[in-house]
Amino acid sequence: MVNRFHISRIKNLSYRLIQGRCILCQSPSRRDIDLCSPCESELPWLTTCCNCCALPLPAKSRQNRCGRCLRKAPDFHQCIAALRYDFPVDRLIAGFKHQKKLHYGAVLSKLWLGRCADQLGPLPDALIPVPIHWRRRLQRGFNQSIVLANDLGNALNIPVYHAVKHPRATHSQQGLNAAARRKNLHHAFAFLPSADVKNKHLAVIDDVVTTTATANTMAAILARNGAARVDIWCLARTP
Ligand SMILES: [Zn+2]
Ligand SMILES: [Zn+2]
Repeated sequence: MVNRFHISRIKNLSYRLIQGRCILCQSPSRRDIDLCSPCESELPWLTTCCNCCALPLPAKSRQNRCGRCLRKAPDFHQCIAALRYDFPVDRLIAGFKHQKKLHYGAVLSKLWLGRCADQLGPLPDALIPVPIHWRRRLQRGFNQSIVLANDLGNALNIPVYHAVKHPRATHSQQGLNAAARRKNLHHAFAFLPSADVKNKHLAVIDDVVTTTATANTMAAILARNGAARVDIWCLARTP
């Protein structure tokens, strides 16, 4: 059955066959990615950041961990992000998620690979996309984390496991403070007993990491079910 998601993918393919235009300035990209070199070099790349949760740190910071990770280590081993969640990355991620511009997602996952592939060390045994509630997936037509996980999994030859589901609808996390987000996420995720994560090294895939509440919840669930190590891979980290 061809659903709305497949139609978007087909549209995305015909777009590739017709032209490679930069998704930011619309000039011909002349590369195998729909982003021209000048626009790519001006993106808000994540440079100095916490080596645990990837929180952006001041350029001259002498600490390599943020205050929060120094006080208490998170439930995940390490968060790896390519970009700061700033203009125009916020616009690209919104277009990908809310306007179903799947070619934006393809550009973002390629950028992630170009930037982060050599920081990865030992590759994980599986990628775990952050689930979204079925009602939101129905509205959106797809789960952006699954699209990203499939792109990264194909490129790195790592299987994608759907190990966690989202049984309860949560209100949008946008605009909530850390305490409210934690409350919102309480019991919102459930482990799928059919998934075999015992003694596995896993990477949870998300588009944006903001307060790390979702990342911590996912990592804690996977660790409780036997995972040996859980990393977080995200496109962008909020400052
Ligand atoms: Zn451009
Ligand atoms: Zn940190």
